[in-house]
Amino acid sequence: MNFNNNMHASTASYPAENTLDERDGRYLRKAIVWSHAARRRGNRPFGSVIVSASGEVLAEAANSNTETGDCTAHAEVNALRALAGRNISREELAGATLYASGEPCVMCAGAIFWSNIGRVVFGIDAERLRVFRGERQDQRDAELSCRDVFRASPHGIECIGPALIDEASAAHDGAWKA
Ligand SMILES: [Zn+2]
Repeated sequence: MNFNNNMHASTASYPAENTLDERDGRYLRKAIVWSHAARRRGNRPFGSVIVSASGEVLAEAANSNTETGDCTAHAEVNALRALAGRNISREELAGATLYASGEPCVMCAGAIFWSNIGRVVFGIDAERLRVFRGERQDQRDAELSCRDVFRASPHGIECIGPALIDEASAAHDGAWKA
């Protein structure tokens, strides 16, 4: 599916794609690789990578909903849980970036808030995801976006996305059928 070909152009207006620098592109692609790994293992196709300000990969994870039967096992939550007990300071986390192959849901946005991570870069946005999930974009329910959650945070959380949309979409093609 190629969203740049004006798919559903008559009814839908999707968020504009962001251009990433080399570093952000590299780590978002890493998260996308995990989204394919998630799908191969029978899970929803999402991946996430957390990177420190100095460029150290602190955690990487795939969605594991199906494998674990845990409805909270989204890629972002799995990556955040992998930070537990490693004595990473809140200051270091404030300078870290969480990369997510798909726009974080409200649960993951809340978890990102609690982590103190100060920056998020995501691939495919929630509206384009709904197309893969088979919902009509013009009849969707009201949803809280991750940006709504981040805006309500007393500490700043920068949020960049959607980005690398076609690459981030590939793992979703045909993945949401029944
Ligand atoms: Zn989530």
